[in-house]
Amino acid sequence: MINVTQTFLPPQSEYNNLVKRAWDSLWLTNRGQLTLELENKLKEKLNIDSILITNNGTVPLQIALKLLGKGGEIITTPFSYVATTSAIVWEHCEPVFVDIHPEYLTIDETKIEAAITPKTTAILATHVFGNPCHVEAIEAIAKKHNLKVIYDAAHSFGVEYKNQSLFNFGDVSTCSFHATKLFHTGEGGALFCKDKDLFHKLYYSHNFGHNGPLDFHGLGINAKISELQSAMGLAVLPYIDTILAERKKVVDFYNDNLNSSKLQTLNIREHTKWNYSYYPIILDSEETLLKVQKALNEKQIFPRRYFYPSLNTVNFIKNTEMPISESISKRVMCLPLYVGLKTEDLETITSIINQNI
Ligand SMILES: *Cc1c(COP(=O)(O)O)cnc(C)c1O
Repeated sequence: MINVTQTFLPPQSEYNNLVKRAWDSLWLTNRGQLTLELENKLKEKLNIDSILITNNGTVPLQIALKLLGKGGEIITTPFSYVATTSAIVWEHCEPVFVDIHPEYLTIDETKIEAAITPKTTAILATHVFGNPCHVEAIEAIAKKHNLKVIYDAAHSFGVEYKNQSLFNFGDVSTCSFHATKLFHTGEGGALFCKDKDLFHKLYYSHNFGHNGPLDFHGLGINAKISELQSAMGLAVLPYIDTILAERKKVVDFYNDNLNSSKLQTLNIREHTKWNYSYYPIILDSEETLLKVQKALNEKQIFPRRYFYPSLNTVNFIKNTEMPISESISKRVMCLPLYVGLKTEDLETITSIINQNI
């Protein structure tokens, strides 16, 4: 069976050696040595100044929204994983959708200003499939209207935009280290924030608000990662360059072998060093998509309809029409992409697709 992704697992002995350190220190969570070491190694690898590793990629979104969204309207994208929207609703803010760019698939920055009202407090946009939003335009709009910017950078591990980590953009940026993501800790995530005061608030918010054992800075929740998960991150990290290089080979194969005159692929924004995180194809109709999906499924190949449905249509929010996102959501799916995908399987996948479009 070939799934859309397969978790990268390091040699088990390397994981065991790291986990032994947790055993030896009798310390399994609360920012132990493995978590601190992983944060330092990630800072070095990504060339960033601030990182806080968390228990997943959703709670840091909620913490950022709690601190910056303040129960107001949040301008957001309808084309993302459901966590982007549900975090907004969960924090008692109101999502206000702005349609996406038809080729970059990120929020259409030219439509943001028209959606701003006196209740707007923040913009929460996704660098979808690791493709950067138009960060300069969004920053300019936020400055002009005194709004905060949060980026859901769950797909953006290793992406560089204009020679720096994409995590450096926005007031807060978050990542997911879920097992299906490019770099993972099983479950896990991180938040990034360059402003020291805000970082401090985010930091104590992720640990129940604690200021020492008996005192509290303020309200908080538990978003801490365990040492067992950080051990997985430390075991995976040495392989990250191999992971990126192997994924690039798969992407190159798809680029060279799919009939590009009959389908649309992701247009990566200029000045981007991409991370080969997903390979979405957009077909001419949902009918074609279903036909291709069925043909692949018959050979035990399972692409995923990322992202469907368009989030403005989910049942827990008021629907507004987002024609581009709705149209693309019905026609897009992500092809299998992971380390170890065999050339013969890639040949099968591309030939089935080319025969059915
Ligand atoms: C995976 C993902 C999340 C959630 O991350 P978890 O670590 O699973 O909580 C949020 N947003 C996007 C866009 C994602 O793909």
